Amino acid sequence: MRIWLLSSGSSGNAAIVEAAGARVLIDAGLGPKVAAARMRMLGGELLPRGVDAIVVTHHHGDHIMHLEPLLRALGAPVFLHQGVSAKRARARHDVRPYVAGSSFAVGPLVVETVRVPHDAPQIAVSVAGAGLRFGVVTDLGHVPPGLAPSSAGATRRWWRRTTAPT
Ligand SMILES: [Zn+2]
Repeated sequence: MRIWLLSSGSSGNAAIVEAAGARVLIDAGLGPKVAAARMRMLGGELLPRGVDAIVVTHHHGDHIMHLEPLLRALGAPVFLHQGVSAKRARARHDVRPYVAGSSFAVGPLVVETVRVPHDAPQIAVSVAGAGLRFGVVTDLGHVPPGLAPSSAGATRRWWRRTTAPT
């Protein structure tokens, strides 16, 4: 499993997880050119390979503002839960709706989502493949009790805690 943490913070969030030959982009807070440049700095290549799916945690700008350019550049569907409106993207692109808290497959990868508290409906995401699992949780004011069992199984964990909505 390879992980590229391209950006974290109120200026934009994006991470790519690759395992078993498949890739998932978690959050769309960077445009394709910046995301490609950051990935190259970290020793990877974003294009032309692209990703196999995009997952957006919640509908705040630093997580979704570059979704449509990314959809065009990366040639991938986006998985959106019901708490993300994204009407333009839903009308124009390959959007795979799912219920927040459920799991779905992206090729050989299993993406698990868990509802977590925020001032917009939000999910934590973990991606499992090749015997490993990586989880991302953003914008938490506190760690809710229900999150620990899911994240405890992750082989790599990354937490960013904020007290202010971002
Ligand atoms: Zn937020």
